[in-house]
Amino acid sequence: MDYKSSDNILDLQYFGEFGGVNPSISDSSTYTFISAKTMSDTFEGNTEGCYLYSRHSSPSNLYLAEALATLEGTENANVYASGMGAITSVILQLCNAGDHLVSSRTIYGGTYAFLKNFVKKFNVDTSFVDITAIEAVKNAITPKTKMIYCEAVSNPLLEIADIKALAALAKKHNIPLVVDNTFSPLSILPAKLGANIVIHSLTKFINGTSDTVAGVVCGTTDFCASLKDVNNGAAMLLGSTLDSYRAASILKNMRTLHIRIKKHSENALYLSQNFEKDGLRVVYPGLASHPSHSKMKQQMVAEYGFGGIMTLDVGSLDKANALMELMQERNLGYLAVSLGFYKTLFSAPGTSTSSEIPMEEQEQMGLSNGLIRLSIGLDNDIERTYNMIKKCMIDLGILS
Ligand SMILES: *Cc1c(COP(=O)(O)O)cnc(C)c1O
Repeated sequence: MDYKSSDNILDLQYFGEFGGVNPSISDSSTYTFISAKTMSDTFEGNTEGCYLYSRHSSPSNLYLAEALATLEGTENANVYASGMGAITSVILQLCNAGDHLVSSRTIYGGTYAFLKNFVKKFNVDTSFVDITAIEAVKNAITPKTKMIYCEAVSNPLLEIADIKALAALAKKHNIPLVVDNTFSPLSILPAKLGANIVIHSLTKFINGTSDTVAGVVCGTTDFCASLKDVNNGAAMLLGSTLDSYRAASILKNMRTLHIRIKKHSENALYLSQNFEKDGLRVVYPGLASHPSHSKMKQQMVAEYGFGGIMTLDVGSLDKANALMELMQERNLGYLAVSLGFYKTLFSAPGTSTSSEIPMEEQEQMGLSNGLIRLSIGLDNDIERTYNMIKKCMIDLGILS
């Protein structure tokens, strides 16, 4: 991969109103026009250089969007008030009543619930498939299919989508490949591998401080403009608008994303290798034992590593709960959903973030009850952390 996301992001230079090193925050919901003619042109979609109303766009949101388009190497991007705001806008923009989607079956619980339950009212139907089986994806496509939807690294099982192969399949059927890249910013660049639309929950690694929810859609200028269209745009009409103050703070956090991702990856690799050696069932794309290890190696930007998320299967929900409680008590992290924080976060996906997925489907896809998902933090001394977690496991009889 020769696209240099981090260098390009750091090269983006925005001066504040008084020469500040950060851009000024646009503290207005509405904007004045010198001439009435410019206002009517702006309503008709000719918004070049003019701001109309902050649900449509604002200077702070456009700066952040530009940085995110630069991250993914797409023409353009729109930011949202949450990852779900971004995901639902894309799906509702591209699908009409009676349409069909093909989606990975291992996706974020909220996305799964939206596709499985919510869009039913529009008679939009989804086939959920094993995204690593290209043949199954291909067989699920019908003349009514409007997109292939997946996560680059799936939640919570960390399956790796073969983006090049999926993009080729989508192209053949003249439909977009939509990839949620929340788990793997910088390390996977889906648009560079052929995806048409890339989505992130900025809430996670990209913001990295667990203080806000936000999302983004990266794609072509045409698609981003269609989302903001005052007559037909899902972003404009559903109104999931990010506040300028939050956009400004997320942009500042993005400046250190490359350093954080490298550290998250380094720490997760260390823990996963050592817990695997200890005989635990560990899922991490950086392990040779992971079914998608070679696929990940092929499509990743090597310097950012295999990401900060790993799972451990400790056998039963009771053990998982006891371990998480003890780890929190010993200040090893927090028993909390979400990911990408400086501190390790852990949860049992079967009873939390993936609980929207029915039990029998969870079993089918290998999502067992004793599974703990860990978002590994930025611990400075990861060997010390490893020893402390291991001590918790020994004290609970998970390891001897
Ligand atoms: C958290 C998450 C979302 C939803 O994002 P919000 O910002 O919480 O709305 C979507 N996809 C993935 C993979 C996520 O982890």
